[in-house]
Amino acid sequence: TKVLLTGGSGFIAAHILEQLLAKNYTVITTVRTKSKADLIRQAHADLVEKGRLSVAVVPDIAVLSAFDDLVAKIASGRDGDLEYVIHTASPLFFTFTDAQKEIITPALNGTRGILEAVKRSAPSVKRVVITSSFAAILSEEHFTDPNTTFSESSWNPDTVKDANRSIATGYHVSKVESERLAWAFVKNEKPNFDLVTVNPPLVLGPVAHSLASVDAINASNERIADLLRGKWKTEIPETGAVDLYIDVRDTAEAHIKALELPEASGHRLFPVASRTSNHEIAKIIRDNFPEFAERLPGPEVKGGEHVDETKAYKWNCDETNKLLKIDWIPIEKSMVDTVNSLKDKGI
Ligand code: NDP
Repeated sequence: TKVLLTGGSGFIAAHILEQLLAKNYTVITTVRTKSKADLIRQAHADLVEKGRLSVAVVPDIAVLSAFDDLVAKIASGRDGDLEYVIHTASPLFFTFTDAQKEIITPALNGTRGILEAVKRSAPSVKRVVITSSFAAILSEEHFTDPNTTFSESSWNPDTVKDANRSIATGYHVSKVESERLAWAFVKNEKPNFDLVTVNPPLVLGPVAHSLASVDAINASNERIADLLRGKWKTEIPETGAVDLYIDVRDTAEAHIKALELPEASGHRLFPVASRTSNHEIAKIIRDNFPEFAERLPGPEVKGGEHVDETKAYKWNCDETNKLLKIDWIPIEKSMVDTVNSLKDKGI
């Protein structure tokens, strides 16, 4: 069975790719540059050889027609029709100065571009899975409201006009507007495929072996790299309002189940393992990696404590748990495996 996976060099997508290949799917994945394509090809040379994996360069998803030629070319190939698409590529960084230009337009055009290309050229596609985010579920004004429960049916009310409120808001808007676009597309265009979105909160966990280097660490794991480099030695930073976490391997599995389960059709999946905090993360790593003791904050160092539950939103992901039945990886295991993967990368 053939799957198109966009953004294959990403933190989450690298795990999706590994799980798809392990499950015998034939995968075509896209990356932005030839050097990233070569890294993935090298990591899976045997499967490239067998025709089970190919890597295509799509330089910029902000260009609406970015996926057109590729989708038309692979829609029907020697090795069978394209059946599934997983769209993960979307900007995730917090150093932009122009939210509209740098993250919202690429996110929106990437989503519109892939949906249009598939509708136009790939009638064999049965399902498109899109990586959305908790950012499309949350509402910033209710972060400190214990009477608010975020779930699969919650929608972030912010729109492009709110994008400049803060850097975080700019990113949240890029995700919620892209997800709105996708559901509207399916409703209005009635394409050949159905849609499932995966809306993870903070994704942590080991970096896949095809990732280039620790310097290119993804945004959500930056806090772990900072901690290991000694930046939290005297004070642990605030955790932030997005303190729900999920391991990257579970996030990847949620995408695969989103693609495989007929009953997932039309659902928004909200995979959440638990609440966490920077304080808890620092403690787990200190307890498990004495070799980093000199760079880590001692037990007396304050900051980043667990939120006071009486002053914070609640969450509910029962619908997702019922559909996916995944036994979520706990934060301890996630952190130990993350640090080991970063040690392998030479941190
Ligand atoms: P990464 O930054 O590792 O992955 C982002 C992917 O998108 C990369 O493959 C990146 O390419 C690609 N990309 C970004 N901008 C463009 C562009 N303009 N043109 C082409 N490709 C582009 O982060 P994650 O793996 O964490 O993110 C993957 C998805 O998961 C995103 O949609 C993100 O919003 C979502 N998500 C992530 C969460 C997290 O905590 N990590 C939480 C919730 C949702 P390149 O490798 O070349 O940079």
